[in-house]
Amino acid sequence: VFRLNDEVALIFGAGSSGPGWGNGKAAAVAYARAGAKVACVDLNLAAAEETAALAESEGCSAIAIQGNVCRDDDMARAVSIAHSHFGKIDILHNNTGITLFGSPVDQSIEDWDRAMDVNVKSVFLACRHVLPHMVAQRHGAITNISSIASIRIGGYGMASYYTSKAAVNHLTRSLALQYADKGIRCNAILPGLMNTPMIRGDAGMKAHHGDLETQLAERDAMSPTGKMGDAWDVAYAAVFLASAAAKYINGVLLPVDGGLTCR
Ligand code: NAD
Repeated sequence: VFRLNDEVALIFGAGSSGPGWGNGKAAAVAYARAGAKVACVDLNLAAAEETAALAESEGCSAIAIQGNVCRDDDMARAVSIAHSHFGKIDILHNNTGITLFGSPVDQSIEDWDRAMDVNVKSVFLACRHVLPHMVAQRHGAITNISSIASIRIGGYGMASYYTSKAAVNHLTRSLALQYADKGIRCNAILPGLMNTPMIRGDAGMKAHHGDLETQLAERDAMSPTGKMGDAWDVAYAAVFLASAAAKYINGVLLPVDGGLTCR
């Protein structure tokens, strides 16, 4: 029941913004390890291709597609390519997300809109194009990558990020209810402090908090486990949620945070 043999997973934001394992890249490879075929979509085609090649090296079939998750025409195209290539889409994994800093007085309106577009509208657009296929086959699992920042404000001055991720949670729960009787489940994963390229390369984070090594050490110390998590912790939680083992799990907001939100 933990396997995804012959399932097709469509992953948005499947590249990594830097060297190493981002959440989307690890998820694509983890789905492949569980037996799924994967379609990897990213703004950066080379990054999507790298992930697809890694997934193929696990013995699965994989394709890479370029697309901007904020654009409806790109999303329609990506879903159509994935569906015609594999004949179905069983798993939709919405990983794309960006962090942008600023309070209402110093964040530009363009940056506020970008956070909402990349983090929330992308989920709406993906569902808009994938759900008709899932409804027709009466089967599907959607996993949205939110953040513990959706339920717990960190001290980082990223109101647009926190707000957009809270919206992802509510969208997740509303889809979970609306599509439960059609064989479709929708869940969210709330990663905590994960050591990924997104964190290591975040220019805003560096500007706000000084040198990277100090920040990483601070983040390790903030975890109840004494260590940040990594992209695989998120990826294997996603494999579980997509599998038949989780067939009665619908509408959950699952923290993958080493217990941080218990505080
Ligand atoms: P990442 O930055 O390594 O990868 C994100 C990918 O999304 C990149 O390859 C990038 O090219 C792509 N992308 C960005 N904008 C895009 C667009 N408009 N269209 C298509 N693709 C686009 O990040 P990651 O490590 O894979 O994790 C990202 C997700 O995890 C986000 O949703 C983030 O909010 C969430 N998250 C991360 C942490 C953490 O500590 N790393 C914590 C909580 C939540």
